[in-house]
Amino acid sequence: MNNPPPTLTLLGTGQDGGVPQAGCGCDNCSAAFENAARARFPVSLGVQDLDGGMHLIEATRALPEQLRLWANACGLDNPVRPDSVLLTHAHLGHIEGIGQFGREAMGCQNIGLVVSDSVASVLQSRNLMQPFTRIDRNNSGASPMLEQGGIRFEFIPVPHRDDSSDTHAILIAGGKNRVLFLPDHDDWKQTLELVGHSKPREWFDSLGLTHILLDATFWNGDELPSRDMTEVPHPTVEETISRLEDYTDEGPEIILIHLNHTNPLNDPNSPQSRLIEVAGLSIGTRGWSIEL
Ligand SMILES: [Zn+2]
Ligand SMILES: [Zn+2]
Ligand SMILES: [Zn+2]
Repeated sequence: MNNPPPTLTLLGTGQDGGVPQAGCGCDNCSAAFENAARARFPVSLGVQDLDGGMHLIEATRALPEQLRLWANACGLDNPVRPDSVLLTHAHLGHIEGIGQFGREAMGCQNIGLVVSDSVASVLQSRNLMQPFTRIDRNNSGASPMLEQGGIRFEFIPVPHRDDSSDTHAILIAGGKNRVLFLPDHDDWKQTLELVGHSKPREWFDSLGLTHILLDATFWNGDELPSRDMTEVPHPTVEETISRLEDYTDEGPEIILIHLNHTNPLNDPNSPQSRLIEVAGLSIGTRGWSIEL
């Protein structure tokens, strides 16, 4: 029997708090309560490699649903039990499900863990390392990397309020497609400086990308009237679109993810959602998948 093709599946498209967010009665959260299709799990990806190895990127509090959704997308009968887990950083929504792998729930052992040293020490300090064995790299100081079953996962450092750990984007490369997963970064100027390019498009081209799963936390700076938005820095979608002004059909496909519950892109009928379509970008949907 032939192995299934390597596949990447989008398991969640929301910001850390998901949609609906706890304690919120905004229009987007209310709509998500009424209609499951409007809900967003916190962001997560599942990658099945050429040998059938299963690699989970981010462990969210929606882990039970996401492991089942991933199995359905891959045509498997039972929810996935991942062979490895990769984490971009240690903010709550990205690691909230990590405890589920331990004794109190799944009782896993020797799951490969691919994380930076600082993320590992956060997990260690919370006593969450027992189900895992780190398999990330052999030369200390370098960014984590994993190459398995014809898929390469390359961690790329990005600036993102490093209050609990450092933060990475992950380049996921197979024989057919090269996908950049960039759920969180502080601002384009710092990120571009760090990677040595002046425009996002130049950076994307230098990586040979076919797809980008891109931070779209906030539409613009007016979204959190009761909170200081400088405490939660992300480039706004408005800014991202203007920086992509020279976007053409030839470039990689840009898929917006990590939507905060306040983002008008949560409403498929909002003028902003239409604008995204016109700009040639798309909004991530749960269960979307591509062959790698
Ligand atoms: Zn996040
Ligand atoms: Zn809300
Ligand atoms: Zn974060």
